[in-house]
Amino acid sequence: MKLIKNDKLECQIADVAEVAGYLWQRGWAERNGGNISVNVTDLLTDEEKALPAISERYPLPKVMNALKGNFFLVTGTNRRMRYVASHPMENMAVIRISDTGDWYEIIADNPVRPTSELPSHLSMHDYLKGRGIDNKVVLHTHPTDLVAMTHNRAFLQPDVLGKLLWSMIPETRVIVPKGLGIVPYKLPGSLELADATIRLLDRYDVVMWEKHGALAVGGDVIECFDMIDTLSKSAQIYLQARAMGFEPEGLTDEQSEELRKAFRLV
Ligand SMILES: [Zn+2]
Repeated sequence: MKLIKNDKLECQIADVAEVAGYLWQRGWAERNGGNISVNVTDLLTDEEKALPAISERYPLPKVMNALKGNFFLVTGTNRRMRYVASHPMENMAVIRISDTGDWYEIIADNPVRPTSELPSHLSMHDYLKGRGIDNKVVLHTHPTDLVAMTHNRAFLQPDVLGKLLWSMIPETRVIVPKGLGIVPYKLPGSLELADATIRLLDRYDVVMWEKHGALAVGGDVIECFDMIDTLSKSAQIYLQARAMGFEPEGLTDEQSEELRKAFRLV
């Protein structure tokens, strides 16, 4: 039974399901790889916000000051993206953060426990919202080509990989204007990983986790996917050139600067 019948929320669920399908089709979401969370507070009516919980209260590891009383649509723990695509609300839940910011409960539609990465997703939402940024989405996935590139130590220095990917095709600089941050390897799901990521979110649109995956933040789940997809396109161009036996020349710094000015990029 649907606990919330709300067109705006349905549209958001459809967007997440669409992106989940792309992640699976791209081969970036093996088994239960990846997770998505969306702040849906603005989409719910007061009546929906007051719905009774369908779960117990689950503690959060720290107080999420900027998220008190907020609502999130989140993919479920151990749930596969391919099934989020085909049966979204059997594999996602809507959760309510308490007014104290230190626990949450599920309010719809099924008692699907959120991703084990929920604390780290919420830490990022909390940080961005606390800074006055209207961020809605955190999207994490495992893009094969981009992850492969993080196995090269030379690409782990700040701005080396981002600059290389910008230089493969003009579009990348335009779609991912702030570039790509790099987080050195840390235990998946740890708050340490979340904290290291948060430190880069002011400067970058997308962050790569060494030997693990990509994370994008933004106002729209489709745009978060598009940023990672565009970076992956650049990675593919690089890899194909290398497979043909040469190092790709890349756009020059002058050409990149010309793009920045022409498109009034940051
Ligand atoms: Zn992951």
